[in-house]
Amino acid sequence: MSKRSLIYAANWKMNHGPTAARDFLARFLQVTSPAADRQLWFFPPAVSIAAARDAAAGRDDVVVGAQNVHWEPKGAFTGELSIPLVMEAGARAVLIGHSERRHLFGETDEQVGRKLAAAIKSGLTPMVCVGETLAEREGGRTEQVVTRQVAALLDRIGPADWERVVLAYEPVWAIGTGKNATPDDAAQVHGLIRFELGRRGVTGRVPILYGGSVNQGNVLALLAREEVDGVLVGGASLEPDGWAELVGLGA
Ligand code: PEP
Repeated sequence: MSKRSLIYAANWKMNHGPTAARDFLARFLQVTSPAADRQLWFFPPAVSIAAARDAAAGRDDVVVGAQNVHWEPKGAFTGELSIPLVMEAGARAVLIGHSERRHLFGETDEQVGRKLAAAIKSGLTPMVCVGETLAEREGGRTEQVVTRQVAALLDRIGPADWERVVLAYEPVWAIGTGKNATPDDAAQVHGLIRFELGRRGVTGRVPILYGGSVNQGNVLALLAREEVDGVLVGGASLEPDGWAELVGLGA
């Protein structure tokens, strides 16, 4: 495998409160040495961000992020978290537009774009997710949907801002289902995304991760494609030894 820089991102969803997050990272970091060409990102539940940040202190290869934020820096939005709040807790990144936010909570392209612009303005690194549903794929609309989602992002920030953005292609039908996109499918959509970025003047190499039922058995085939700059993983990131093994496979 080439030695380009890879991002391994763990999306813990509603798993691992502060104690479990601390214990996870203590074990995981004990068995995972820093590597110059590998970044390890963790998206714990918001209540565990500070614990994760503290547990990873001194490990520059680890980035802790929030799973969601509101675009407004403050205001009467009960139950929401602002960017300043999650940054104070220790978040350096934020997951934006995860398909569970889009499809279970009705987040629109417009809201995703606002969150992206707010993150860029505040210095929080956004990892923005795009991807089609099963019905959209089966209806031959994958390109159309992903192009639309990426255009909504391009409309919000300028070409230079993209130096601080990470994208994740996550086909909705592959998340938590055990069905992953083939490396060819992933590479094709990543290529499309990169084409759209280039067409709109984004010249730098924006990392594009693949996510959707990534595990120890399929990760190397996905990362073997030069279009895939890392992986965003839910289920297979929840146990420290298994996650350490997965991130070690590409070393
Ligand atoms: C995710 O939550 O972003 C994800 C890809 O989950 P899983 O790896 O479980 O499919």
